Amino acid sequence: MTSLYEGKSKRLWATDNPHTLRMEFKNDATAFNGEKKESFENKGRFNNAISTLIYGLLEKEGVPTHFIRQIDETNVEVKKVEILMVEVIVRNVSAGSFCKRTGFEEGRPFSQPIVEFSYKSDELGDPLINDDYIREMGLASPADLAFLRQSALKVNDILTAFFAKCGLKLVDFKLEFGRLASDPSVIVLADEISPDGCRLWDLKTNEKMDKDRFRRGLGNFMEAYEEVLGRVRENIA
Ligand code: C5P
Repeated sequence: MTSLYEGKSKRLWATDNPHTLRMEFKNDATAFNGEKKESFENKGRFNNAISTLIYGLLEKEGVPTHFIRQIDETNVEVKKVEILMVEVIVRNVSAGSFCKRTGFEEGRPFSQPIVEFSYKSDELGDPLINDDYIREMGLASPADLAFLRQSALKVNDILTAFFAKCGLKLVDFKLEFGRLASDPSVIVLADEISPDGCRLWDLKTNEKMDKDRFRRGLGNFMEAYEEVLGRVRENIA
C-alpha cells in the first residue's frame, strides 16, 4: 500500500477502503518544530496503546472520533478525514508556551480551562491565532469553531477525570479535528492522544510524565510513557 503522508511521529497509509486509512505510530520524537529529533525503541507501541485506549474511552463517552480499530502494536485503522488547519489547545494549569508568553510561573491552576487555537503550519511554527483570524483565514466557520471549542472542553472534562483516576494531572493538551472524507459536514476528533501532545504530571510528586522529559532532556523518557500506559490500562473500564 502507498504511504500518503509522513509526519514527524506518524505515517498514513492507504487501505483497500477509500474512506479509511492506516495510521502508523513511528518511534521518532521531535521537539522545537523538528529541531531536536531522536528515535526511541517502543515509542510508537506505547503511544498507539495509550491513544487506542483513550479513543475507546472518548467514543464510549459520546465524542465522535476518527478511530476504528487497532490493527497491531503500531498501527490503527482510522476514518479518512481532511484535517482542519486549526489546532485546539486546552490548558488547566500554567505551563509551556503560556508561561513563555505571559511570564507566569509554571504550575498555577486556572480557575477555568483556557482554550486557545493555533494555525497548523510547521513553516510558521504553529502561531497562536484567535476566532477572528480563523474566520478571515477561512480555516473554520464560526459555527464549526464553536463546535471545536465545545468538543475540546468535553474532552477535557472526560480526560481530566480519567487521568486523575490514574494519579495524573492533565496540565494541557492539543487536539486536531478533521472533516470525514465520506461526509465533509461531519467533524470528528483526529490525530492521536498520547503523552506526545498532553502534559501529564504525577498527582503526588508533580513529576513530568510526558514529552517535556524529551524536550528538556530530563531522562527516563520511555520509562515515563510506559508508566502512563500501565496506569491507563489499569484504570480504563
Ligand atoms: O507548547 P505549548 O505550551 O503551547 O503546548 C501546549 C500543549 O499542546 C502541550 O501539551 C503540548 O504537548 C501540545 N502541543 C502539541 N503540538 C504542538 C504544540 C503543542 O502537541 N504543535
